[in-house]
Parts: sequence; C-alpha cells; structure tokens
Amino acid sequence: MTLIFSGNDYKYEIEGIMKLFIPAARFKHIFSDSFTAEDDHVVVGVHEEQDAVLLFVTVCYLGKSNRREQRLSKDDGSDRELILSRMLFDIMSGITGIVPKWGVMTGVRPVKRVNKYIDAGLSKDEMRDLFKREYYCSAEKFDIAYRTAMIQRRIMPTVTDDSFSLYVNIPFCPTRCSYCSFISQTIDSGKKLIPDYIRLICREIEYTAQISKDLGLKLDTVYFGGGTPTSIEAGQLSRIMQTIERSFDMSGVREYTVEAGRADTVTREKLETVKANGCTRISVNPQTLNDSVLRAIGRRHTSAQFFEAYDLARKLGFKHINTDIIAGLPTDTPESFNTTIEGLIALAPENITVHTLSIKRAADLNHAEDKQTVLKNPTGIMVDRASELLTENAYSPYYLYRQKNMLENLENIGWCRQGEESLYNIFIMEEIQTILAVGAGASSKLVDRKGARLERIFNYKHPLEYIKHFDYMLEKKKEIVDFYAEKK
Ligand code: SF4
Repeated sequence: MTLIFSGNDYKYEIEGIMKLFIPAARFKHIFSDSFTAEDDHVVVGVHEEQDAVLLFVTVCYLGKSNRREQRLSKDDGSDRELILSRMLFDIMSGITGIVPKWGVMTGVRPVKRVNKYIDAGLSKDEMRDLFKREYYCSAEKFDIAYRTAMIQRRIMPTVTDDSFSLYVNIPFCPTRCSYCSFISQTIDSGKKLIPDYIRLICREIEYTAQISKDLGLKLDTVYFGGGTPTSIEAGQLSRIMQTIERSFDMSGVREYTVEAGRADTVTREKLETVKANGCTRISVNPQTLNDSVLRAIGRRHTSAQFFEAYDLARKLGFKHINTDIIAGLPTDTPESFNTTIEGLIALAPENITVHTLSIKRAADLNHAEDKQTVLKNPTGIMVDRASELLTENAYSPYYLYRQKNMLENLENIGWCRQGEESLYNIFIMEEIQTILAVGAGASSKLVDRKGARLERIFNYKHPLEYIKHFDYMLEKKKEIVDFYAEKK
C-alpha cells in the first residue's frame, strides 16, 4: 500500500489510521505533489489556494476508490491532521466495513483527555459528544475512559509536588515470551552479568537517594518491574531491597510492589524475603489459564503453577495481589479467554489487569509464521467480555492506556476492587508524579505539574551497556537536580 503525501508530512498519524483497517499491510511513503500510483494507494493532500486551504483524501483499495475533501479559510485554526484522519477513517470504514471503537484516537491518552475536559467544566454528556465528534470514539469506550478518570480523581489530590516514586528494573526472565519486546535477558544467558548488575544497581540506588534527599523529595511508592524481578535469587533481591531501606526515608511509603510475574520464578523463600523487606503488593501473572496457549507463547510454566504461586502468596499474608492477562494471544479463543477471566475472578485478586496483545517490531511473534492468524483473533470480543464480567463482579477500571500495534487498536485496563487501586500505575500512566528509575532499561520521568513540564532521563538499555557505561549514566542523573532547580 502506497501512502502519498502532498503538501504535508502527516505520515505517522495517517499510517496509524490505515493500520486500524489493514494491520498487516506494509506501507511505502511518497512525499510529492506530482505522483502516479496504479496499485492500492492513499493520497493525503493539503493545498494552499488563493483564499482557502483545500484538504483532501483519496483512497484506492481493493478495486474501490473514494474521495473526501473540505475547504478551510486560511485563518481557520482547526487541526488539519485530525480532519484528514477523520476523512480517511470514513472512507476506510466504508470500504472495509470495520469501525474501530476508539475512532481516530491513535496518539491520544483518553483518560488524560477526560480529566482535562472535567477540569474545563464540561458535563459527562458534553464530553461524550466531543469524543464522538472529534475522534469518532464510541460511547462504550468513552464510558470506560470516564469511569477510569472518576476513580483517578479520588487519588490525584493525594499526590504532593515534592513526592516521587522509585522504579527498580530487573531485566532478567526465565525464558523469552513470544510477544516480548523488552530487553530482558534469559536468566541463563545473563547469569555472568548478574553479580555486577546487583552491585551497580545498589550504587545507583544510593546515588539516587542522595539526590532526592538533597532536593527534599519524599518517597511515596516503590515498584520493582522488569523483566521478572523474582528471576534473581532471594539473597540478591534482599540485598537490593535492604539498600533501598537504608538509603531512603521509607516512613511515607504508601505502596511497595514487586512483580513476581512468572510463576516459574516464585518460591516460598523469595516471597518471604520480599515481604520481610517491606513489599506490600505483588503481581503474579498467568497471562492465560490455558496450558496449550502458555506453551504457544513460550512461557515455561503451567496454570497449576500459577495457582500454587497465588495460594502461597495469600498464605504468606500478601493482601494486595495483581494478576495480568492478555487478550488475543496466539491460539487463544473467546471461550478459553472467558474461562481465564472466570478463573481469576473466582480467586478475587485485588487487581486484574487486562492487556490487549501488541505485536511490537522486536517481538519474536512479529516474525513468526502464525502472525497473520493472530492478527485475525477476535480480540475485541474477548476485551468486551472481560469488561462485562469484571464490572458484574464489582471491579472498576482505574488506569487505562493504549500502545502502538495493539490488536484491533484496543487498550490495556487495570481493574481493581473498591479502594484497591495501585497508586504507582496511576502515577506513571497519568504522568502526575516524578518517577526516579534505576537499572538497565529504566527511564526516569520528571514531572512539574505547575509548570506543565515533563522530562525523561534514559538509562542504558542492555545490562551489559549499563555495567560498561555506569559512571557516565550516573553523571546523567544530575539532570534531576537541574530539572528541580528550574522548577523553583
Ligand atoms: S515475562 Fe514479561 S519481560 Fe519476561 S520475557 Fe515474558 S513478556 Fe518479556
């Protein structure tokens, strides 16, 4: 499929819209005012005329062609990219019969948008109309974004400008899942690096703690992610957690999460260790309770192992457990997905996070033979059913985000039982609190809500690079000081 841009360079937005309808297509881009194209193509034009600006979209696809156009006065400040996106959406919906539920909301954070509209004083009905008119967003998706925002608005006032969260990245896993796009090394191939990694991450923690102390910042939540943090040994986890305990003032910490995502890494010793060191919330992620699907995605554990890990966590007294699942996994079906949701609801975890499969470029699945079959999975049916069942069982959506390349352009939603929201997940998604991050692949997000500023500091991605360039990376952390100096 050729995308031709005349008088504009709206490549990312237009390609994003096309992927809603033909996700498996490969696109060729031409930026030119004179073009000839015989095969399937789209022309997106912005042409300056004497008294007006002509916007137009022409599509030739599957032997059908269609065109939309609109003239704006020269001083019209409307968002031209958005108008062209809507035209393209109309045409492609007509040709394919597909009507994506988030409409043209491709690079927009829906919950952030709702929060902005609430602050501006709009009523719920006005917001729903605006979502429909501006973005072609369905009432159903608007409602879920609205419900999410309402939960978040209870939490947001509890965040102070001098608070921050600490993120600790442990980029190791027992095996690599077929859909994974993270730089996470299998524990076997990364074995040699781990002692140095632990030593240096402890140094980075101490250094970060000193910066936060000098700036008078208060630690609010701690989150261990990855990778799978419980891939490393109990003693290694303990060493990192004790470094945190020694380096920061922990008296104000409201939430302390350790992801124990893979059931095949969970042992009594590790759970006891993280609990003894202050962890209040863990995440044990089955992704599916169907063993044949687990095999298909390369996870080396069974659903029985997940249940054992979950039971063990409850027996050891963990009061806040999250379980992640994914809709649209290879070989999964709506019936099997339904069984997974029902199985989890029966356990009554405090949080259930429903992800939609996203096939990223770096994932093995992106190059696999069954990619085309996976793209045709009826994922929307699975996600809708999850929303229905979770709502019926008193779960509410408390954070929601969307990524590139998600099946059917759907979303990830964190669901919680009443009052059991994970604070960190809201802070990171809505960008309302500074996150100071340590470890390979971690990125700090510096937030100045009053000044509407957001800056990121990226650590080296690969553990080997992290170890090699550690001093330089530590030096870069001084940017945190510069950011807060500007804030004052
Ligand atoms: S457990 Fe998560 S981080 Fe680890 S390989 Fe699987 S998807 Fe990647």
